[in-house]
Amino acid sequence: MTTESPAPPGRIDTAALRQRYRAERDKRLRPDGNDQYLRLTGELAYYLDDPYTPRTERAPLTDHRTVVCIGGGFAGLVVGARLREAGVDVRIVEKGGDFGGTWYWNRYPGAMCDTAAMVYVPLLEETGHMPTEKYVHGPEILAHCRRIGEQFGLYDDALFHTEVSGLRWDESESRWLIETNRGDRLTAQFVVLGAGLLHVPKLPGIPGLTSFRGHTFHTSRWDYDYTGGDATGARMDKLSDKRVGIIGTGATAVQCVPHLATAARELYVFQRTPSSVDVRNNHPIDPDWFAEIATPGWQQRWLENFTHNQTGQPATEDLVQDGWTEIARRMWGKIATLPAEHRNPAGMLAVLEESDFEKMEEIRARTDEVVLDPDTAQKLKAWYRQLCKRPCFHDEYLQSFNLRNTHLVDTDGKGVERITETGVVVAGQEYELDCIIYASGFEVGTPFTRRSGFDLTGRGGQALSSYWADGMRSLHGIHVHGFPNVFVVQPFQGANLISNVPHNIVDSAKTITTIVRHTLDRGFGAVEVTKDAEAAWLELLATGPGGTIGGPDCTPGYYNNEGQELGANQWLPRGYPYGASAYFSYIDTWRRAGAFEGLEFSR
Ligand code: NDP
Repeated sequence: MTTESPAPPGRIDTAALRQRYRAERDKRLRPDGNDQYLRLTGELAYYLDDPYTPRTERAPLTDHRTVVCIGGGFAGLVVGARLREAGVDVRIVEKGGDFGGTWYWNRYPGAMCDTAAMVYVPLLEETGHMPTEKYVHGPEILAHCRRIGEQFGLYDDALFHTEVSGLRWDESESRWLIETNRGDRLTAQFVVLGAGLLHVPKLPGIPGLTSFRGHTFHTSRWDYDYTGGDATGARMDKLSDKRVGIIGTGATAVQCVPHLATAARELYVFQRTPSSVDVRNNHPIDPDWFAEIATPGWQQRWLENFTHNQTGQPATEDLVQDGWTEIARRMWGKIATLPAEHRNPAGMLAVLEESDFEKMEEIRARTDEVVLDPDTAQKLKAWYRQLCKRPCFHDEYLQSFNLRNTHLVDTDGKGVERITETGVVVAGQEYELDCIIYASGFEVGTPFTRRSGFDLTGRGGQALSSYWADGMRSLHGIHVHGFPNVFVVQPFQGANLISNVPHNIVDSAKTITTIVRHTLDRGFGAVEVTKDAEAAWLELLATGPGGTIGGPDCTPGYYNNEGQELGANQWLPRGYPYGASAYFSYIDTWRRAGAFEGLEFSR
C-alpha cells in the first residue's frame, strides 16, 4: 500500500486499502449513533442565541396571507421571489434576524461555498449579480440573499426572529392556522416548508462539557465580540493572547482553522476523523468573460450542465469543472476503457472503486507534500472513500499545521475524552484552553418535526410526525397526502441532488408557483396529492438506489446516519431512480402538461 505518493493506476494494493478503510471505520463505529450528540435545549439553549442581530419587540399579528413561507434562506427566498413575480402575496417567517438561512448563521471566518457560485448562488441572472470569485465567500452570499429580499419585495412582509410553533389545517376554511413563539395567530391558504437541511446546531456529548469555565461557542454563532475580527476575514486580534481549541475537523473547521491559526496564541485542533482535503484553486471571475457567457438563460444552462456532468455520462463540455464533476469525469473515463464484457454492474462498481482509490491516494499524497511534520501529515490523511464524508477543498487548511502555534490533537477515532473546567482531555492529557469552539455540525437524521421545531396537524387531525413516523412519504418530495396546500422544499424523493441543493430549490420554486397560480386561477381552495399517487411515487423510488449517501461500509458520519441502519423516524433519502437530470426533465414535462397528475384540486 502506498502512502507517500500516488501509486500509478493499476498498482494500488486494493485489498490492503479495503482492509485499512474497514479498520478505520470499525474504530469509529459506536452504538449510540446520532444519540452521541446533545440537543441544544435547557441549559445549552444559549448556544443558539443570535449574536448578529438584536431582537426587537413587536405586537403579535393576526392576519391572512395567500402564502406563508417558513424559512428565509434560499428556499423561502427563491420560492418567495417566484411567487411575487407571479403576483401572489407571500410572507416569510424566519427564526434569524434577517434573510440568509445558513449564510445568516454561518459567519465564521473563512466561510465560503464549496460549490461553484455560478450554479450555487440562485437568481444570479434575475438580479444581474456577477459572483466575484469561482467559489464565493459567505458575506457575498449573505448580501445576495438580502439583494433577493429587496428586489422581490420580500422584506415588506417578513417576520424575523419569529419561530413557528404549530400549524393546523382548518378544513372548513381551507387554510392553515399558524402559531408562532411571538404570539402570532396567522392564517394562510398555502404553506411552504423551507427550513433547510442543516440548521439545528448540535454539540458532541463529551463528558464534562458544561463544566468548562472559559469561553465557548458553536461555529454557527461566531462570537466576534470575543475573538475580534469579522466575517470578511479581518484578523481576530483579540485571540493573540488566547489558547483556543476547536473540536471537529469537518467542512466548517477546514475553512476557519486557517484564520484561527494566524490569530490565536496557540491553536489546538481536536480531530476524530480527518477530512479529505483536495485543492481549491479559487480565482476571481473576470467581468469580460462573464459578460460574454451571461447571455439569456445562462444560469439554467449552467445548472443543467453541472448536474448532467456530475450525475450522468459527462457531456462534451464541462462548464463548471470542479471537484464534483472531476469525480464523474474520472469514473466515466475509466468506463470508456472497459472491455465490452465488463460493462455490467459489477464491472462499473469495480471501476468506481478503482477511480476512488486513485483519487484518495492523490489526496493523501498531497498531505505529505504540504505538511512538513511527517507524523502530523500521517494523522491528517483520510482513510475512506471520497464520498463517505463531505469532500473538502482548501488551499490553506493543511498548510496551517506548519505554523508553530497550531497543534493537531488526533484522538485516533475516539473523540475527545473529557472536558474539564480548564480545558480538553485526550488520551489522559489535558490541554488548557481559554476558549473552546465547537465545529461539531448540525442535526441530520433526527425527525423532521424535531428539526423544524413544530408539528403540522393536517386533514382529520393527522400529525405529520405520526404520518412520517416510518419515514418521509411524498410525491416529488414536495406534496404530502393529508396535508393540503403544503409544499416541502428539499432534495429528497425528488432530484436528490446533494452536491448542489439550490438546483433542487430553484426547480421546486417553479413547481410550487405553477401549482399555486393554477389553484388560484381556477378558483380552487385546496390542492392535495392523492394517496395512490404518493404510494406509486414511493414504489417507483424504491426501484432505485436509496439509503444513505456513503453506505454502511463508510466511516461513520452524517452522510451514513453515523454508521447506523436507517430506521423509523428517518427521512427516506432516495431520489428519482433515473438520476437528477432525468428528474428535472420529468418534472418539467409534468409541470408543462398542466394536468398535475397525482394532485387533486377541490373548491
Ligand atoms: P460536520 O458534521 O461535517 O463535522 C463535525 C465534526 O465534529 C466532525 O469532524 C466530527 O468528527 C467532529 N466531532 C463530533 N463529535 C466529536 C467528538 N466527540 N470529539 C471530536 N470531534 C468530534 O459539521 P460541519 O459544520 O463541519 O459541516 C456540516 C456541513 O455543512 C458540511 O458537511 C457541509 O455539507 C456544510 N458546509 C458546507 C460548506 C460549503 O462549502 N458549502 C462549508 C461548510 C460546511 P467525525 O467526522 O469523526 O464525526
